[in-house]
Amino acid sequence: MAEEKEDFTKNFTKKINGLFIDPKIFTFKFSCNCAGECCHYGVYTDLKEHDTILRIKDKILPLFDETQTKELDKWFEPPEEDEDFESGVAVGTEVINGKCTFLDKEGLCVLQKLANLEGVHKWKYKPMYCILFPLTIYEGALTIDDEHIERLKSCNTNQNAETSIFDTCREELIYFMGDENFCDLEKYREQYLSEIQTGEKVNAD
Ligand code: SF4
Ligand code: SF4
Repeated sequence: MAEEKEDFTKNFTKKINGLFIDPKIFTFKFSCNCAGECCHYGVYTDLKEHDTILRIKDKILPLFDETQTKELDKWFEPPEEDEDFESGVAVGTEVINGKCTFLDKEGLCVLQKLANLEGVHKWKYKPMYCILFPLTIYEGALTIDDEHIERLKSCNTNQNAETSIFDTCREELIYFMGDENFCDLEKYREQYLSEIQTGEKVNAD
């Protein structure tokens, strides 16, 4: 993020379920139009998600192909403290052969593949930060992961995109926040957009 850490949430006025909301998510145009370049850099998992993945390793390993490593101690980076994660500790996935350790040669995430094979919710085993991207949680705010979007060559390249990142990520937001909080988010969106229209607020873009 461009702003200094301590300043990042200073202009955010709305909190839902303890999270500040960056209103830019209502106006920033986004279209998801590539084969998954966002998985080439790995992801930060919460310590609990990391533990779950290791617990189900015997189900994951048969889905790995020759481009992935079956050596468990090469799957994750060392843990680090991070208050934006539920347990206060983040663990990054390693990059193997130019892609996240869990991405197969077909460009599929084996964590999602496993869930699909089991017939459970498609995101049951997937780290929350993977589900949320191109949104993210940063310094206690729901915001846009603009740094990562900008460093990717093929992310959001459609100059004529008409859909907001909020609408593009509707399903993900409902999964992350739950129906009730998402309803509050929609109400805030209506209020924010009408304030922009009437000139009470300046577009945050
Ligand atoms: S979020 Fe961006 S990088 Fe990821 S698949 Fe969509 S366009 Fe590609
Ligand atoms: S865990 Fe899966 S979705 Fe997340 S970066 Fe790795 S391959 Fe992609």
